[in-house]
Amino acid sequence: MRLVTFIYAEQQHTGLLLGECVLPLAEMVKSSGLELDVSTVLGIVRSPKDKLNALSELSRRAFEFRSAFIPLSRVKLLAPIPHPVRNVFCVGRNYLDHIKEGLPGKPTEVALPVVPQFFSKATHAVNAPDGDIRLDASLTSKLDYEVELAVVIGRGGRDISKAAALDHVFGYCVANDFTARDLQRRHDQWFKGKSLDTTFPFGPAIVTKDEINNINELKIILTVNGELRQHAQVAQMIFDIPAIIEYLSAGLTLEAGDIISTGTPSGVGYAMTPPHYLKVGDVVESHIDELGTLRNMIVAA
Ligand code: MG
Repeated sequence: MRLVTFIYAEQQHTGLLLGECVLPLAEMVKSSGLELDVSTVLGIVRSPKDKLNALSELSRRAFEFRSAFIPLSRVKLLAPIPHPVRNVFCVGRNYLDHIKEGLPGKPTEVALPVVPQFFSKATHAVNAPDGDIRLDASLTSKLDYEVELAVVIGRGGRDISKAAALDHVFGYCVANDFTARDLQRRHDQWFKGKSLDTTFPFGPAIVTKDEINNINELKIILTVNGELRQHAQVAQMIFDIPAIIEYLSAGLTLEAGDIISTGTPSGVGYAMTPPHYLKVGDVVESHIDELGTLRNMIVAA
C-alpha cells in the first residue's frame, strides 16, 4: 500500500496513492464492511496485524472503487503522518563519502564510526511532500539539504535484534533533513539547527515494506533547480536498517508510527567548493526509486 494523507474539499482524508490518483480509504473500507478506523495514517500504522492484512487485501481490489478515485492534481498532499507523536529520530554521518566530504582537507581514508550517531528533529519540522521550506535570513544564512530514506516503525519494542528488526518496520518514505548549518555548529548540539519549522518534508506516501523488493538497491537522488547534487544507493549506508533499529531500540522503546531518517549521502551544499547554500526561490527535488519524489521551494520567512 501507498498510504497518503491529503486535503480534499477542505477536509483531511487518508487514502491510497494509485499513480496519478488517490482513493479515499473511508469509502473503500465502508463499502467492504471492514471494521477499521482509517481516519489517520498513524491509526492505520498502529492497527492490529489482522486488520492491516485485511486492508492490504482490500487495497489489491482498489480498481473496483475507481468511481471514487480523485486526480492527484485536485488534492493537497500532507505529510503521511502530519503530526507525529514523538520527535523524528535521525542518523548522522551514515554514508562514508558524506563523512569524508565533511572533514577538512577531505581525506581519502577515514575511520568508520563504531556506533550510529543519533539525534532528533522536533515534530514541528514535519512538512508536506511539496511544502515550502522557510528561510529566515535573520536566523540562518547556511540552509542546506539532505535527502534521506525514512523508515516508519510498525510494531514497537525495546531491545530489538537485527534479525527481528524488519518485522518491526511498517514502511518507507523519502525525506529531507534540511539543516541550518550555522545553527547546527553554533549550538554545538545538533537539535536546534535541525529542528526549524518546515525542515522535514517527507512522503509522498508511506510505502509498505511488502511493496519493495529490495530496499538496499534503491537509488537516492537530489537536485537543486534541476542540477544533480546527491546520487547514491541505499546499500551504501554504513549502518543498515536492521543495525540502526538494533542500536536505537537498545534500552529505548520504539513505538508504532515512529519515524527514523537514516542519514544522507555525499553532495551536500556545505561541502561544495565554494559552499552552495540554499536561497529563496530554489527548488529542491528529493527522490528515491519506487518511493517517490518530494519537491520543495525555499521561501522567505
Ligand atoms: Mg541528516
